[in-house]
Amino acid sequence: MSNQVIQVNDSEMKNIITHYHRNQVVRNAPGVVFAAKTTDTAITAYNSGKVLFQGGGAHREATRWQGASLSANSKTTKPKSSGDMLPANLAQLSIIGSDETGTGDFFGPVTVAACFVRDDQIELVRELGVKDSKQLTDDLMRKIAPDLQATLIHSVLTLRNEKYNEVQQQGNSQGKIKAMLHNQALKHVLRKMEGEKPTHILIDQFAQRAKYYNYLKNAPEVIKENVLFSTKAENLHVAVAAASIIARVAFLEDMDKLSRVAGFPLPKGAGPAVDQAAARILLKDGEAKLKTLTKWHFANAEKAKKIALKRRD
Ligand code: MN
Repeated sequence: MSNQVIQVNDSEMKNIITHYHRNQVVRNAPGVVFAAKTTDTAITAYNSGKVLFQGGGAHREATRWQGASLSANSKTTKPKSSGDMLPANLAQLSIIGSDETGTGDFFGPVTVAACFVRDDQIELVRELGVKDSKQLTDDLMRKIAPDLQATLIHSVLTLRNEKYNEVQQQGNSQGKIKAMLHNQALKHVLRKMEGEKPTHILIDQFAQRAKYYNYLKNAPEVIKENVLFSTKAENLHVAVAAASIIARVAFLEDMDKLSRVAGFPLPKGAGPAVDQAAARILLKDGEAKLKTLTKWHFANAEKAKKIALKRRD
């Protein structure tokens, strides 16, 4: 299916609505101000001024309104990434994306999300605020995530610290833990899709393909069909960007809970502030309690113990 998006001003929008009003259809999606369906083109107009044309006549209809700006829209920039060879039109395809958060944070869980964005939902997902992930603050992501979760077929898994430590101490590397969670989230999404197939599955690459599947060699059901790996995949398809936001917000929400348990806001990452916070919990509540809030195998645990010993003297 062909897709064209144009950006129009208010008066152009009025002309478009007038032109297609006899073909108007009802679409109660967020941000949609007008929708129409002709014999070969679906037209969706958003309150941001974007108009999406889909179907065999998409290019012809879009050119009717904005011939000049179309070439600018279809230009693709190649972000720096590594991994599989990717289809040139990847950004416009129906994709399940997956991504994880929390793997570098001493406090808090590892979260993984996968979500499905069908080609006709791509523009909507952008409208919901999934743009350049670097521009998204934690607060903004907390606002966007509920809309994404309401709109998209998705799965989000939170591996809380006690379970993480148990699995890690059984000899599972963090890479293997991540692979198991990605595979699980992808399975859940495929199950919810009830037979509908994505064109591809795109995993934000944390391990090369061979290594990823080696991690899963004993897993009962491994998702392999049409799977692509790429680093920086959140820049390649909104499905990965959306998964990244959903995973991040699940991490933040668990951190909120753990902060209430600790009695103060827990710092993210694995730097000196984290060592200090961990030492404070050690002195106040002891090691067993600290362990339930952290990824215990991180070097921060030993650093915190040293700081606590010094403070105790
Ligand atoms: Mn990632």
